[in-house]
Amino acid sequence: MQLFRVLGACALLGFASPAVAAPKAAKPSADVRQVLPVTLVPAHYDLHLMPDAEHLTFKGEITVTGDAPKPTTRIVLNAKGLTLDAVTLDGVKAAGVTLEPKLGRAVIRLAKPAAAGPHRLAIAYHGPITTGTLGLFAMDYDSPAGKRRTLATNLEPTFARQVFPGWDEPALKATMTLTADVPADQQAYGNMPAAATTPLPGGLKRVRFAQSPRMSTYLFFFGSGDYERIHQQVDGVDVGIVFKRGDMAKAQYALSQASALLHYYNGYFGVPYPLPKLDLIAAPGQIEGGSMENWGAIFYSQDHLLFDPKASTERERQEVFLVVSHEMAHQWFGDLVTMAWWDNLWLNEGFARWMQTHAADALHPEWKTGLQAANIFEDGKRTDAQTATHPVLQPVVTAEQALQAFDSITYDKGASVITMLEDYVGADRFRDGVRRYMKAHAFHNTVDSDLWSEVQAVAGKPVLQVERDFTRQAGVPLIKVAAGKDGVELTEGRFAEDPASLKGVPPQTWHIPLMVAARRAAPQRILLAGSAAVPGGAPLINAGGLAYARVAYPPALAGALAERMGELSAMDQINLMNDAWALGESGYAPASNALAFLSRLPPEAEPVVWLRAVALLTDIDSNYPTGSPARAAFRAGALKLLDRVSGYVGAAPRPDEAGNVASLRASLWTARARFGDAEAVARARRIFAANEGSAADRRAALVIVAQTADAATFDALLARAKATQDPQEKARIFSALARVDDPALSARLVELALGPDVPAGAAPGLLFTAGIANPDAAWAALKPHLAGKLPIDEEEAWIVVSGVAANSADPQRIADIEAYGAAHIPPDARRPIESAVGSIKLNGRVRRDALPDIDRWIASH
Ligand SMILES: [Zn+2]
Repeated sequence: MQLFRVLGACALLGFASPAVAAPKAAKPSADVRQVLPVTLVPAHYDLHLMPDAEHLTFKGEITVTGDAPKPTTRIVLNAKGLTLDAVTLDGVKAAGVTLEPKLGRAVIRLAKPAAAGPHRLAIAYHGPITTGTLGLFAMDYDSPAGKRRTLATNLEPTFARQVFPGWDEPALKATMTLTADVPADQQAYGNMPAAATTPLPGGLKRVRFAQSPRMSTYLFFFGSGDYERIHQQVDGVDVGIVFKRGDMAKAQYALSQASALLHYYNGYFGVPYPLPKLDLIAAPGQIEGGSMENWGAIFYSQDHLLFDPKASTERERQEVFLVVSHEMAHQWFGDLVTMAWWDNLWLNEGFARWMQTHAADALHPEWKTGLQAANIFEDGKRTDAQTATHPVLQPVVTAEQALQAFDSITYDKGASVITMLEDYVGADRFRDGVRRYMKAHAFHNTVDSDLWSEVQAVAGKPVLQVERDFTRQAGVPLIKVAAGKDGVELTEGRFAEDPASLKGVPPQTWHIPLMVAARRAAPQRILLAGSAAVPGGAPLINAGGLAYARVAYPPALAGALAERMGELSAMDQINLMNDAWALGESGYAPASNALAFLSRLPPEAEPVVWLRAVALLTDIDSNYPTGSPARAAFRAGALKLLDRVSGYVGAAPRPDEAGNVASLRASLWTARARFGDAEAVARARRIFAANEGSAADRRAALVIVAQTADAATFDALLARAKATQDPQEKARIFSALARVDDPALSARLVELALGPDVPAGAAPGLLFTAGIANPDAAWAALKPHLAGKLPIDEEEAWIVVSGVAANSADPQRIADIEAYGAAHIPPDARRPIESAVGSIKLNGRVRRDALPDIDRWIASH
């Protein structure tokens, strides 16, 4: 799965679940997990699905062959929302079935005890097709030929039980054969290629797919619709892109990249992709989780797969590559070798998020994705600094907690720790360790030490010790630098967004692989554990920026480093700005240090560094109250800080410039418009009205026009969004409207997001974006809807509502969000609420304590 977070100036495309604490009562031992009692161990599923798309219902027949380890009088399996119409074991009708909805289980009582050994369980059942994006769901969209409906499944982590009765736990792998009855004029897709198609009466056809290898249930896929497919052979595998009719031009880029990636991964992992085909399928909208790595049939939100050469931007090109590479990495990390339980989800997600960067650096070094990954590290650290954080390896007991494990700690901290470890052992040795792991555990399940002991064996370094320090304990290490006798002294502590929250927390230490670089000397590696003395004057600590830690310098040293900003590496420049702002927000150091570093960036610094600088200024700006004189002063200062780089980048593209320069130009333009540069706004309006310029120009112009819209402009854009039959274009316009500055229009956008006019699956992303643009107006508009049912999958709604509240600095919002949690979320799943409360408090402290220091810096520069 891919969290919606993307690289680049706009950190949030849609949503990312906030970091959240594990429930206090839960222990990470197997006996408290809500797992099935072992009555029958499945070996093979033969599943027949008969959907009735029009009436949003489906029938199913499933035959499970498996072994009873001992004699039993009942069989317990997962089934949720399904009605079991007929159940037989070895041809004998069952005595009865009891459903346990809260646990998502069915208990089948047998007519006579079953002996230990092989059995055959057959179930006929029926269930609903949903209109959300989890389980088996319908997704509608407009097309030039009229309304269209597709069906698809999206099952991670625990939604397979809503599509077929089975053993819905990652460790209980079995082979699968799918048969599906679909309209004769549609195409059907599953994990495996179709083996046989036969016509049925009533305009239907029956498609039987080949048998899969042993796989976990959450990776199952079925989809059908008015699709087209383009494909090519790569290393003996049929790689296909599947898309709604008419989108062929938008699918070419993904086919070229998926083909290159499959070959690259076959080489990297040392175990070739094991299925005969790999389809990458574009939903005609957005799905929960962003995109899903079903084995052999990856299902993508449309923007994660389709690249329109006429309308897509450079940032979107890179994003398509990153999500394609992320989900394809899962075909090994997750699908071929699967975590034994959800507590080790980081093995899947941390790795896929790390591998997306690794693959991009290998195949498109000009994008400098390794440098852009600083945003991933930063997201992980910010979440990990919250009071409500948790260790990477966290206890997971219930289905709700399994879903909430898909958070920034699992993805971003996970990827950061893996990046640090790869750097520590060296890329070649690290890859050798990964190859040994793949070979040893293919088609099976693992825990993290299975991987890290292989890496340690080839590395000859204490890899397991470092890994344990960073995955078993929560929190971001803070390395304090103090002037020493002949250099500096380093001391470890813990960084927290609210330092007062650490009172009473026992001191922590980590083994941190750390690069230190004295001025004019080559960087040296140390393994910091507690404290160390580093010789040499004014050294840069965490040179290269890959250690998962923040560094706090004394004022004189911070000043000396700021003077050297222009000569430091791009990663060091980003890292110094990021640490300075985080330390400033939380009161460890003056917040203005961030501006001291930023102001010394030369205009010719890496575009990726400037993208981060622009995002940082926007971030600081968002802390000021709307319309306040202090915000006006800050904006004038921010424009001054951007003047030189704006001039250097220029308004028009230069021939042969790097793609990241185009992204920076758009980002500078948007920021300048936000900060009140009248010429930037006027130019956007001109370009938008004339519909001229490059795709990047037109997109930036759309965003600026929407951001600065009055009611008439808002209405005009809305009419355009409603009229288009291209779901991607519709999504783009709504997404731009969600950024509108005017609070009253922001409130209207919230109403629209909850209504029928927005594209399928778009509501969460739109609410998040509106929440960032106008936290309090968006909340006020959302609040009256909270008593009813939001058009968002239930568990996702908890995260979305918390996310909107989290942007506020108003203490009243704490009471609001706590009341929402108490009314709607079970006590053991209120982790997003805690996280939102932490964010609201931080926003208040930043306003009170950090902004005055920023104001003083702006006034004196
Ligand atoms: Zn993923």
